[in-house]
Amino acid sequence: MKKYENISLLPYNTFGIDVKARLFIEYYSLDELRQVLKEHKGEQILHIGQGSNLLFTRDFNGIILHSGMARARFIDDETVEAQNGLRLDDLIAQLTDMAYCGMEKLSLIPGEVGASAVQNVGAYGVEAKDVIERVYTMDVETQEERVFTNEECKFGYRDSIFKHELKGKYIVTSVVYKVKPGEASKTREEIIQTRMAKLPTVGEVGSAGSFFMNPFVPEEKAKELLELYPDMPNFPSPQGVKIPAAWLIEQCGWKGKTLGGAQVWPKQPLVIVNANNATPDDIIALAAQVSASVKEKFGIDIHPEVNYI
Ligand SMILES: Cc1cc2nc3c(=O)[nH]c(=O)nc-3n(C[C@H](O)[C@H](O)[C@H](O)COP(=O)(O)OP(=O)(O)OC[C@H]3O[C@@H](n4cnc5c(N)ncnc54)[C@H](O)[C@@H]3O)c2cc1C
Repeated sequence: MKKYENISLLPYNTFGIDVKARLFIEYYSLDELRQVLKEHKGEQILHIGQGSNLLFTRDFNGIILHSGMARARFIDDETVEAQNGLRLDDLIAQLTDMAYCGMEKLSLIPGEVGASAVQNVGAYGVEAKDVIERVYTMDVETQEERVFTNEECKFGYRDSIFKHELKGKYIVTSVVYKVKPGEASKTREEIIQTRMAKLPTVGEVGSAGSFFMNPFVPEEKAKELLELYPDMPNFPSPQGVKIPAAWLIEQCGWKGKTLGGAQVWPKQPLVIVNANNATPDDIIALAAQVSASVKEKFGIDIHPEVNYI
């Protein structure tokens, strides 16, 4: 186990925000995790992965936990169990090299296995929920281990039970994904190229990926808007009509606009980047202005996908 006091979180968040944590603990086994949770019972704890969906708004006066467990193993020919601290893309790269497919459309999504189940990450029509069979967790309060079936995770669009009724109550310790033998290297390569052309590269430009979630509106509302904006992209679904937030933001003229050090990414307006030593307040203010203008022009509320801490 490694412990650091009063440590900068700069290397632990992809937005590149330089705030401090009172205590940072990295554990390397379930026993160590159990021990940490017992020792620090009742204290404020935040378990992070790669910090690629976080916006630290100030110094964190609690304990940041991170997993150093990063192994994966085949359970059988159709299921692989990966530990929470493994980078999701490293897992997909290994599976692709071994000629297993099923997860390749999630290639290059930043972040670790644990968060993939919390966030139900998704891209190019595939979501983690389509490939997750079950999720192993530890109860923060009792340190008991509990397995959640796919159904029990209550997955939704960038959503799971771990973001709502069980928020902060369970630590995802490993995830079992369904895979199957098959060639995926061409698809993986195409996805990597497409993403690199459009999205900021982690480590080069600070961001947390898509800042906002795509809104769903009632059919009536979509019809009204389509009369005014016949070119508006729209995707009917059981949840309502999905309108791409990137299109709404672009229509409001935000592409490439800056506020302080924060910028709406010119190649993909759904992304807010740390263009020039942005402070958390720059990012928060820019995001607030973007969502206010979408509300004013279209009457639609857009909500952050990024977790404000
Ligand atoms: C350039 C870029 C592109 C992106 N593209 C996509 C995309 O295409 N699709 C997509 O869905 N997302 C995308 N994202 C967002 C991000 O990659 C995902 O949300 C990812 O799942 C975050 O993983 P992480 O390990 O960094 O989690 P963190 O950001 O560290 O944490 C996210 C949340 O999960 C919780 N958490 C983390 N680990 C655990 C654990 N083991 N147990 C319990 N809770 C935990 C944290 O407390 C926090 O609430 C992108 C981000 C960037 C920077």
